[in-house]
Amino acid sequence: MNVEPCEMIKKRYDEAKDKKKFCGQAMAKCVPQKDGYYRHHWSYNRDHLIDVIYVQKELHISFHSCMYYDIREKLYRASWLNSYYQDKIDQIIKHGTLLDTKIKHIRFLVEVRRFYREKGWIKL
Ligand SMILES: [Zn+2]
Repeated sequence: MNVEPCEMIKKRYDEAKDKKKFCGQAMAKCVPQKDGYYRHHWSYNRDHLIDVIYVQKELHISFHSCMYYDIREKLYRASWLNSYYQDKIDQIIKHGTLLDTKIKHIRFLVEVRRFYREKGWIKL
């Protein structure tokens, strides 16, 4: 979903100390909810502050268990530290890879879902 934040929101973003928190609040106000989905931020940078991806609620925790937040970049990195199969999946997307575009982030989520499905951990 691409919603362009207004200049007022961008200005308030610049002033906010906790960018992640601010983006969460702005998104809650600006981006409509959908039943059964979470609005997932792929980036907490100024240009993406309300640019979110709708993800199924059942998958959201699985996704977050496979990435960690890089506070300096305000983006996520792939993480297989919690995975028993990290060697196998690391061949697809290396641990620590910065998910710095929306496409890269979505591709990563697709891979995580495929992997979890293969393992029978999820049915979606
Ligand atoms: Zn999320």
